[in-house]
Amino acid sequence: MRQLIILLSLVLVGCSSDPIEPPAFDGQRAYGYLEQQVALGPRVPGTEASKACRDLFYQHFESCNLQVDSQAFTFFDPYSSIDSPLVNVIAHYRGGGDDEPALLLLAHYDSRPRTDFHTDTTLIHLPIDGANDGASGVAVLMELANMFKSHPPDCNVDLLLVDGEDWGKPGDIDYYLLGSREFARGNIRDKYCFGVVIDLIGDSDQQIFREEYTERFYKPINDMLWQTAAMLGVNTFRESTRYTMQDDHISIGAAGVPTALLIDFDYKYWHTEFDTPDKCSAESLANVGKVLAYVIYNSSIWPKN
Ligand SMILES: [Zn+2]
Repeated sequence: MRQLIILLSLVLVGCSSDPIEPPAFDGQRAYGYLEQQVALGPRVPGTEASKACRDLFYQHFESCNLQVDSQAFTFFDPYSSIDSPLVNVIAHYRGGGDDEPALLLLAHYDSRPRTDFHTDTTLIHLPIDGANDGASGVAVLMELANMFKSHPPDCNVDLLLVDGEDWGKPGDIDYYLLGSREFARGNIRDKYCFGVVIDLIGDSDQQIFREEYTERFYKPINDMLWQTAAMLGVNTFRESTRYTMQDDHISIGAAGVPTALLIDFDYKYWHTEFDTPDKCSAESLANVGKVLAYVIYNSSIWPKN
């Protein structure tokens, strides 16, 4: 009997997929994408800089052989009483079967139209640069697309860049998350197995705590991410929970796709004029990029719904 059990366990071990080491994540190149976005100017919805940023996405993702779609919509802006044009961009990587649900990775590319905590209170109407608040998450997704080209993983992944995440004035929660809400209005439930939102992950002083809402409703995704970080020696992922955030994971989750939020909300330059590239680092981008890359290349560890 004892021998039989040993034999059986050997067979089971033989059947489980061996871990796949993903290609190295190039944090420096990702940091370059962060700088490129900021150099365009604030990516406030409806502006030329926002359009230029989308042009950058089309060019980049198409050069990585991804199919790129856009989703344009208008939002009635209560602050100016005009219809504002917004656009989401979705880059599709297909390495799995046609009917296989995809992994959804999401970041917001808009930057905030106002500087709530400007040191000069007469200047709060100015838009922020959004190096960390916006550009950092996008930069990681752009670099992942390079990996898809050089080392195609055998799963489906959608990279979703949403507009209008950071539009509202403090307390006006209905005027945030505009792009992800629009995206979630489509029939997305069966298209995705799960999602991960990355936001504010570029701080050079990185500390990523488990987000409370994710921990409560989608703990298996958090567990997978934190176990992966520990296994890879990424020591900026903290085991405890700290913040409950209203972010794009709420919209996508409400549409039936379990979605986690990776965020480092201990960023002292948040919504200030100092949210600039020098506060971010290639290493922080790479920490998050490495964890996501491992998850992408090892679909055997994905939580089962
Ligand atoms: Zn923000």
